[in-house]
Order: sequence, then C-alpha cells, then structure tokens
Amino acid sequence: MRIGIDLGGTKIEGIALDGSRELARLRVATPRGDYEATLDAVARLVRALEERTGASGTVGVGIPGTLSPENGLVKNANSVWLIGRVLAADLERLLDRPVRIANDANCFAVSEAADGAGAGAEVVFGVIVGTGTGAGIVVRGQVLTGPNAIAGEWGHNPLPSPTDEERPGPQCYCGRYGCIETFLSGPGFQADHERATGHRLAAPEIVAAACAGDLGATAALERYELRMARALASIINLLDPDVIVLGGGMSNIDRLYESVPMIWGRYVFASGAGREVIRTRFARARHGDASGVRGAAWLWN
Ligand SMILES: [Zn+2]
Repeated sequence: MRIGIDLGGTKIEGIALDGSRELARLRVATPRGDYEATLDAVARLVRALEERTGASGTVGVGIPGTLSPENGLVKNANSVWLIGRVLAADLERLLDRPVRIANDANCFAVSEAADGAGAGAEVVFGVIVGTGTGAGIVVRGQVLTGPNAIAGEWGHNPLPSPTDEERPGPQCYCGRYGCIETFLSGPGFQADHERATGHRLAAPEIVAAACAGDLGATAALERYELRMARALASIINLLDPDVIVLGGGMSNIDRLYESVPMIWGRYVFASGAGREVIRTRFARARHGDASGVRGAAWLWN
C-alpha cells in the first residue's frame, strides 16, 4: 500500500492507494504557524489511514516548497512555518520509516504521469495554473528534481515574445516584472481583465462573460490564450514533452485545450518546415484536485 500526504497551507490531505485504486482518503485542517502540530497532524493522518485499511504503507509527502539539496531543509515554501525545518527526518522519527518528500507541483506531474492524462508518455510536463503557476517534469516515470531543486519552475521566467504593452509587465512577488505567473495565474488573469476594462471579476466570471459575448472578457481570454501558447511553446522548444498536462483552477477553462495548441505552432521552432503538426498533446489533468495527494503516494514507485 502507498500512502500519500498533501501538506497544504489550509488543509492536509491523506490517501491510501493500492495500485491506482483509492482505499481511503482523509483530510484535516492545517495547524497554520505551528510546526510541531503540523508534524503531529501528518503522523495521525498516516495512522488513521492504516487503521482504516488494516495495512501499513510507504509514505510520500507533497509540500508547497522544496527541500534544499544542500542541507535537506525546507525552502521556497509559502507555508512559512516549514521553512528551515528538517521535515523529512522529523517525520521519519515520528513514523518510524523512511519518508519521501517532493514539491507539490512535482507530485502533480508524477500522479498524472503514473495513471493520469500522461500515462504511457515518455516525457510529461505537468503544469498547475491556479493561484500560482508551478510545474514538474517526469521522464520515464521519474521526477526530475535538479541540483537546485527547481526543475520545471517556469512561472518566474519572463513571458516570452512580449509586446510593448506587456513590457515591463506587472510586478511579481519574486521581485521581478513580467513573470509568466503575473499573466497566467488566476489572479494575473483577473488583473489583466481589470486593467483593460476597469471591471473586477473573478476568473470564472470572466470566462462566463466571454461565453455570453462580452467584448472585454472575450479580449482578455484571447490575450490569455496567446500568452499561454507563447509560454508553453518555450517549454516545447526546450523539453519537447510528449504531453503537457494542465491542472489547477485555470484548467477548468474548456476552450484552452483547443485554442492554445492552435496558436503555439507559431512559436515552436520549425524553420522551413511549413505547416508541420506539433505532436505534443495538451490535456486536462485526469485526477483534478486529487493529483497532488495521489502523486505524493506515487513517490514510492
Ligand atoms: Zn516572479
């Protein structure tokens, strides 16, 4: 049995998997700001899953951050009470077994590559576009981490091929301007629509307004599609994945799966090749919100 834990900023979710089959799933609120209580909540969740299923399991944990390759301490986490902690060693001591920990976007990519929209593909680029824009890379079933533990972190690259209106672009929390995340995240999309129209709408409301024929919303959605196509074309040029799997809140926009691949060919390197088809697939995540916790379980693969 594989147990996966998704240690989020507001909730901690746990799942027990037998192969692809879900045996049990539980969630508790995250004890925000309290490291010891967070450890305890994870340990209790693991024990509850084992009681529920009557079996013991391997444990993988997805976190909103990563472990420093230098010293194993948590870094880049927006759940700041985890930063600088020896999370793996502390959990291993509490659970009395080895624990594998990975970034939550990497867990998403692992899940979708294992038995989701990227199953059977050799190279999977798994993207989560919601509050932020994270991503993970899985090659032949193995997640790429890299010496800096940032493989796949495309969201803080500048938006490719910017127009004059897109330069320098909105300020990002990372300190730079015009990061991909400032355009493609849900809040980025909302801000772009508001800058152009003066109306503050949530992302799903903008999409609904575009469907109803609103011109400002339609223009915002078209700008969004063009930007996503440019951002993903740069990934295709670099990695040439078999499939790009989209998750997160923005993955619910149905028309992206048709419109974005119709545009990205203009930006993919194909000198003199004319109308050659880009073979990379663009697919919606199969496991939806459960991809993170499932991927944490699949870290023992
Ligand atoms: Zn940034």
